Amino acid sequence: MKILHTAISAQKISLGLRKKNKIIGFVPTMGYLHEGHLSLIKTARKKADTVFVSIFVNPLQFGPQEDLAKYPRDFKRDEKFCREAGVNFIFYPNVKEMYPENYSTYVNVENITEKLEGEIRPDHFRGVATVVLKLLNIVQPHFAVFGQKDAQQACVIKKMVEDLNVNTKIIVCPTVREKGGLAMSSRNTYLSLEQRKDAAYLFKALEYAKRKIQTENYNRDIDFLKSQMTKLIKSRSTVTKIDYISFNDNRTLAEIDSLKNIENKEILVSLAVRFSNLRLIDNIIIKR
Ligand code: AMP
Repeated sequence: MKILHTAISAQKISLGLRKKNKIIGFVPTMGYLHEGHLSLIKTARKKADTVFVSIFVNPLQFGPQEDLAKYPRDFKRDEKFCREAGVNFIFYPNVKEMYPENYSTYVNVENITEKLEGEIRPDHFRGVATVVLKLLNIVQPHFAVFGQKDAQQACVIKKMVEDLNVNTKIIVCPTVREKGGLAMSSRNTYLSLEQRKDAAYLFKALEYAKRKIQTENYNRDIDFLKSQMTKLIKSRSTVTKIDYISFNDNRTLAEIDSLKNIENKEILVSLAVRFSNLRLIDNIIIKR
């Protein structure tokens, strides 16, 4: 396994591999790797000759009041993790390499970035789309793997790749969870024992919605489901705020406000909940 720090070195290697008809799979991450990342790497490992993982905490996707400085980092640990997972190259640039002083180009995916996470984190997806397009241009992968954990991010990346004719296939893998249901996340490391127990209720609330929606002839309105989910989550003492609970069409992210006429649609139920200054997101996809 090799560690590459510059865009030019990664690009050179990629172009060389492409000339030899090697299939390149890519997993972009912000590091502090866990089982969720591992499942993406395993998917890439199965389908590719060469697997690239990038580790870059992208300042562009953090708001001024967010946790950029505190985001967990441990490169030595990530390096070992990648080696054991069979990764061939880690792309590990510093901020200057990605955004030199005169940097001035940004990617703005419209509409679908304005709701859910985008409403609360205004420039977040501009930062995500910009870094992902840069990474795809650097690594030049045949396919890139993302997690369903960040459902809206996956939609935004797919839209960007489609709109800008990027020659990379986007694969989305299911969310990996801890035993109690909590979605794995690098930020979970900052949860206290009690918060961690309470955080499992996010998935319980999502499963509740799934159970109800999949019950035959169930026809309570979505507002009722939302209020029941809210009650369940708010019953946990370490929850400080629910930013949103939302029901959307999984393809277009259009809001769903009624269970009528939703046959054949995939419903994305997503939520964001704060535990003091820690903010967790989770989602589930429901087919009726
Ligand atoms: P991050 O390092 O948090 O930016 O995540 C890098 C990639 O891993 C993104 O595509 C995430 O959606 C994905 N990911 C993060 N957590 C999970 C999880 N629990 N299960 C599956 N994929 C995940």
